[in-house]
Amino acid sequence: MTPSAIDKYDFETGVYRPPSEGGSNSLLVRLTRNCPWNRCTFCGMYKAERFQVRPVAEIKKDIDAMAALRDDLAALSGRSGKNGEATRHAAVALIGRHPALNHHPGFAMLYHWLLSGGRTAFLQDANSLIMKTGQLVEVLGYLRRTFPSIVRVTTYARSKTLVQKSLDDLKAIRRAGLDRLHVGLESGDDALLEKIQKGATAEIHVKGGKKALAAGFQLSEYWMPGLGGKAHWQDHARNTARVLSEIDPHYIRSRPFRAWPGTPMAREMAGQTFEMLTPEEQLRELRLTMQDLSVTGRVCFDHAGNSWKNSRGQLLFTHSYEGYQFPEEKQTVLDLIDDGLSVGSR
Ligand code: SF4
Repeated sequence: MTPSAIDKYDFETGVYRPPSEGGSNSLLVRLTRNCPWNRCTFCGMYKAERFQVRPVAEIKKDIDAMAALRDDLAALSGRSGKNGEATRHAAVALIGRHPALNHHPGFAMLYHWLLSGGRTAFLQDANSLIMKTGQLVEVLGYLRRTFPSIVRVTTYARSKTLVQKSLDDLKAIRRAGLDRLHVGLESGDDALLEKIQKGATAEIHVKGGKKALAAGFQLSEYWMPGLGGKAHWQDHARNTARVLSEIDPHYIRSRPFRAWPGTPMAREMAGQTFEMLTPEEQLRELRLTMQDLSVTGRVCFDHAGNSWKNSRGQLLFTHSYEGYQFPEEKQTVLDLIDDGLSVGSR
């Protein structure tokens, strides 16, 4: 193996992506490194890391490297390389030629993505929209041209950044091929948002969410049941339902609060200035949130943290990425919660 043979496959991959982008085997394309905000007191994802926007030329080189792998795998599979095709035989043969691929941080991701049909991509890391609009448009165009099999591109975005970008810029990014935004709402309660240092008020969340929808994006909003603990659960539930109802995104995704070791919130818990809800109390909060929620999108519990059990000892909710359609299935969700609550009262 010559150094140049493996150099052509070099590309960078970040760690984090939403579960719905893993189960659907998304191609992970790293546009920025880490989080430009990095202050949320519950989050430990990028705490020790410095934020960087990667140069467009470097990102394009990554895309070229991914395409080189796709084409070489397709050639070894005896097929055209344009439709994300690969076989296990081709992967084994390519690794045989370039054993260093065994240690390549993105090879397995790319191979599984090709096997799944090469249909979706996720732009990493925490807030790709912070890139200059022209640069983001250029990268999206290059990605779409290089991988015509892609039918959906998604990324994380902050509400504050959505407010700061002009609607015309957001529309240009949408036209260039970014389809869906994953936004961390966490709560709609201003006091709680300030406490956790989200860097966004309820008003900013509403403005950002509505602007994303006006620009034509599919919108996924994530909230954290239990984030207010015993002291703030009712305000957290009511105001989160109010803000989500105002935005009315396509997807609402539940990410129950868990203390991330080393974070300020974990220290609050250790110092007993934050009291976690019990699983039953979490369900009471969830019931209040769902009761007040007036939306037309899908409510999803697509994360292992949604681990409440029903009266038969099974998971209370499906972990499907498509969840429950509201308002049609709102009563179903409320009935499920009541079933879960009945376990605690026995
Ligand atoms: S914006 Fe997201 S990634 Fe950044 S600190 Fe907050 S939760 Fe973590």
